[in-house]
Order: sequence, then C-alpha cells, then structure tokens
Amino acid sequence: MNASEIRELLKLLDQPDIISFAGGIPDPAQFPTQAIRDAYAAILSDPAKAAQALQYSVSEGYLPLRGWIRRHMEALGVPCTEANIMITAGSQQALDFIGKLFLSAGDTALVTAPTYLGALQAFNAYEPRYDTLGLEGGNRTPESYREAAAANGGRVGLAYLVADFANPSGETVSLPARQDLLTLAEALDTIVVEDAAYQALRYDGEAVPPLLALDIARSGGIEASRTLYCGTFSKTLAPALRVGWVCGASAAIAKLVLAKQAADLHCATINQMVMHQAAEAVYESQVASNRKVYKERRDAMLAALARHMPENVSWTRPEGGMFIWVTLPAGIDGADLLAQAIKDCRIAFVPGGAFYGEGRQNNKLRLSFSLSTPAQIEEGMARLGALLRRLG
Ligand code: PMP
Repeated sequence: MNASEIRELLKLLDQPDIISFAGGIPDPAQFPTQAIRDAYAAILSDPAKAAQALQYSVSEGYLPLRGWIRRHMEALGVPCTEANIMITAGSQQALDFIGKLFLSAGDTALVTAPTYLGALQAFNAYEPRYDTLGLEGGNRTPESYREAAAANGGRVGLAYLVADFANPSGETVSLPARQDLLTLAEALDTIVVEDAAYQALRYDGEAVPPLLALDIARSGGIEASRTLYCGTFSKTLAPALRVGWVCGASAAIAKLVLAKQAADLHCATINQMVMHQAAEAVYESQVASNRKVYKERRDAMLAALARHMPENVSWTRPEGGMFIWVTLPAGIDGADLLAQAIKDCRIAFVPGGAFYGEGRQNNKLRLSFSLSTPAQIEEGMARLGALLRRLG
C-alpha cells in the first residue's frame, strides 16, 4: 500500500462513527480563541498598529515576537539575541530552508529510524540519501558515516532529530545520547537540526536540555554552535497562524533569511503581531492546560493498551507529546491492518512504514492520543486489541 492509498483511506476519517488516532494535531478545544480574537481586535482597532499589521515587514520577523522567543530560548538555557532568531511559517518551513541550504543532490541526511515524515518530505526536494542515526549508543563511527556518504558522491549535510517526545515514536533522547550526537556532528563537521515541535508538552519526568543549549556549553557560545533549533507555536497555541522560528548562529540565520526572502518575503505581519500578543497573554496558562488535558489522554491510552493488547504487541511510553508507537508481530503489516481496522472496527491510525528514510519497518503503528477523550481511547484500544487477537 503506498502513501496515496493511505491518504485515500485516511479521507474516510470524516465519517462520524470512526474513532481516529491518526491525526497528530492539537485538540481545537484547546485553542486560545478568546486571546487570539482579542489580539486581532486590539491590533486592527488601533490605526497605527493596523497600518503596521497590514503592511510588508522584514524577512527576519516581527522584532517584539523575536524578543519574546529570545526570552523563551534563554529560559531553555540558550543565551541569544534577536539576531539568532528568524520567524518561519511553522517549523515546517524551517526544515525546507535548512534542506535548501545544507543539502545538495547526493548528500547524506542523517535521520533516526523512524523519523518525522514531514522532515523527509521537506528534505526529499533536495534529493539527499538517508543514513540512520542510532541514538542511545547505536551510532556508527564518523568514518563509517563519512565513507558511506562519499561512496554516494556527497557529504553528510545534516543530522536531524526530534529530541523530545518524537513524532512518531514518542521517545525522548537521553542527555548522554545528545552529547554523543554533538560529538559525532563535530567529527563530521555537520549541522544538527533540532526539531522541538513538542518540547513544551512534557507530562512527567525531568526535562533534558535542548541540544542547542548543550552545544553552546561545549562550543562557548551560540555563534560557535552548529545546532539549528526549530520551534513552533503550532502545538501549544494554534497551528493555523503558521508561526514558528529557527534559532542558531547568526551567520546561519542570515543565510536562512535570504531563503525566506526568496520564498515568501516574510510571515504574515498581522499573524506575527497576534501571536506575540497571545503569547504574552496566555502562553504559560495555555501550556499548563495542554499538559493537563493531553497527560490525561496519554495515561488513558497507556492504560488501555495494557488492558487490551495481546502479549506479542509492544509500545513506547512517552513522557510527553502526542504519540505512542506500537510494534506489531513481525508478520503484520500496519497498512493492511489500517484497511481492516477502518472496515471492521471503525478505528484509524497511521501505519508506520512511511516514517523511514531507510530501513523501513512495516509492522509499526503511530497512535495519536491528542484528539480523543479517555472514553474514546478505551473503546478504540479495546477494538484494536480484539482485531489483533483475531489475527493471532
Ligand atoms: N516537526 C514535527 C515533529 C511535527 O510533528 C510537526 C507537525 N506535524 C512539525 C514539525 C511542523 O509543524 P509546524 O510547521 O506547524 O510548526
């Protein structure tokens, strides 16, 4: 089953009797609608602000918003200035621009297996070859990565990872593995792309410092660092305003600004101003509310999996984010199971095969718990467990 067939199946999810664990998206009930409405109203009813909000603006992004992000990054252990930050149309656009700058056809992108499908889609346009990062002690030697890249006629252009509560695995990279990756990247003289889309959504356990913070501590300052941190308001405030950011050494940011200028000049000025005002007003309470709601759903899904899955099925136990990654017995194909699950038991999920740059495994599923109530989760996992038991 190929990607377009899966997309066709996922179109059926609009049907009201289907319980879907497919979409990795925020619950709209969480959106800070009032704060966003207030921000648009305040900006548009003030003639000076309205004139600014509806006008062209600089490619780097709205300065007060970059100031808010600078303080946010500093709280994460990343001392920086506004020159280290560019606003992007979601973090997805940062991934595209980074691919454009750092990957030529035939170069190698190091990614985890599995990895975020949208990053593969962003990088694919620049025709890289993929090689696999084995974080948590499983990386190969720098020579091995370098020689494999050279044999393909290119160099290692970047190492990409979702370090916290990854999409799709839900897993968080440990501190030693982050340090090892920075050591590997140094030896390969390559950049590290830290996708932090879910970083704020931690439900338990200890926060691990961002790779960019560790990189700065090792290298002596952000200007000497090799990590590009991709952040976003999509998972915490609202994705539709399309406001994210990239933070890193100012020389790299300056090049990304040229890519931004060429692509779309700048993000919608009004949306940046609104996001700034909304973040000032509700970011903290918003994250607290997200954590409470999604934690309850994560807990419900882990409990329901334990109750209903047969013994030959295993899954990750994420400390945050939106996803649990399920491993089925070797003979069961996730895409075939999806077709059967929609038809027979009216539940849906994303089959795991699409999340691999190389070394694809088909006996995997990504379950998202962000959109379903604990009762729906219990019912859905009971149906999935019964289906898997029928299949033996
Ligand atoms: N990275 C990861 C890991 C994601 O899951 C997503 C959203 N699916 C993105 C980046 C892109 O999000 P946005 O462009 O809305 O910031």
